[in-house]
Amino acid sequence: MRYIILSDIHGNLEAMTAVLDRAKDLKPDGYICLGDIVGYGASPEEVVELVRELDPIAVMGNHDSAVLNDREAFAFNKQARDAVSWTRSHISEESRQYLRSLPLVRRLDSVLCVHASPSKPAEWGYLLSAAATVDQFTAFDEPVCLIGHSHCPLIVKMTEYGPTELKGPTEWLAADGRYIINVGSVGQPRDGDPRAAFGLLDLDDRVVTLLRVKYDVATARERIISAGLPALLGERLLNGS
Ligand code: ZN
Repeated sequence: MRYIILSDIHGNLEAMTAVLDRAKDLKPDGYICLGDIVGYGASPEEVVELVRELDPIAVMGNHDSAVLNDREAFAFNKQARDAVSWTRSHISEESRQYLRSLPLVRRLDSVLCVHASPSKPAEWGYLLSAAATVDQFTAFDEPVCLIGHSHCPLIVKMTEYGPTELKGPTEWLAADGRYIINVGSVGQPRDGDPRAAFGLLDLDDRVVTLLRVKYDVATARERIISAGLPALLGERLLNGS
């Protein structure tokens, strides 16, 4: 099975459309969506509809949860909270129901899918480096754990010396190896590269590939600003920060 991995789309229709154009050329068997479908971007409804059409293996992100539940939004900064409020009034009841249906964790074959961390999926901790994953490998049994949340790509292999970062963009996954993989963010990259990030996981050949695609950042930014969302959320798309 070959899966396209999408995470942190954040209502960015321009990025999502560009990623799907490229993804379809790769002829995957299925899609995995690691949460934060909405929040920040100006097109939450359209993006939820596109995700639903893919019928992905999907989990809930903290922004999806905050749109449904006020308590989750308390932990957010002002821009993120404002975006949550805006998103609530720009998605349909049907989309809300879809977000509500998403679990925190999904398992398929040899892969665990979770938005933030396998040890405490509901606490939304950030795994920003190989060192940060050291206590996470005991929290799942599968060879591979897919995460999102940080918006920065990261491939970590557990070795006899501890968790070690692999640089990608293509990495072979050893049959007896264990990995935590973040393919980065479709709709709001934060690794200094404004291109939309996603991934391809080939479970037959045991290869993961980090992919990037250019999209119409200027339009995504303009639409955030003209929607009355915090301008910073548009500006940061320009440099992927
Ligand atoms: Zn996110």
